[in-house]
Amino acid sequence: MKKNLLIALLIMLTTLAGCGNESPAEAPELTTEALDQSVEPQDLRDQVDLSLKPDESGRIMILMYHNIGEEEKEWVRTPENFLRDMTVLYEKGYRPISLRDYAKGYIDTEQGFTPVVLTFDDGNRNNFRYLDSGEIDPRSAVGLLLAFHESHPDFPLEATFFLNGPGVFQQKGTEEQKIQFLLERGMDVGNHTLEHANLSKPTGRRFSDKSGGRPYFWRI
Ligand SMILES: [Zn+2]
Repeated sequence: MKKNLLIALLIMLTTLAGCGNESPAEAPELTTEALDQSVEPQDLRDQVDLSLKPDESGRIMILMYHNIGEEEKEWVRTPENFLRDMTVLYEKGYRPISLRDYAKGYIDTEQGFTPVVLTFDDGNRNNFRYLDSGEIDPRSAVGLLLAFHESHPDFPLEATFFLNGPGVFQQKGTEEQKIQFLLERGMDVGNHTLEHANLSKPTGRRFSDKSGGRPYFWRI
């Protein structure tokens, strides 16, 4: 392993030496004194509360919502209860991060707060609905998330919508506009298969027939 690394380094150094435009005589000489001058050691310990230990268990709560509707049921959360959920999370120090960042292991939650991931399945109309006026329905999931973020700017606008097709969010002709809006506002979309297939039970059809495209996230 070490030998391979050494060979790789040697190849890299050889390549670097071979493709530079500057001749070695023109390049500034890098001495240890120059390094000592440019790097001022800083003691950052004064700036952080070291009594707060990060949770390194790698476990982060992922909440899975389906419908936002007027009657609370197994797969339905009312707008009021959804806002109550967000308020409880906020007051208990949870701050949403994107599923994309979580998958990449990039978590920039401020010290003292706890990351949480918010997800919505099935691309239901009540997740993202335009009113006749063209405004986003304030009682749809996206409307509620936008309003909560506006009143609590330190609660990041992060959520992932797992979509089925065709006709995501069930308002004909608005599919692209809605997905674009979510992406522009920094939210994510994931693939929930084209036909909401149960992929734990093989149907004999090709997997790609069900997927509807190459995903970044799957929820199956
Ligand atoms: Zn589903």
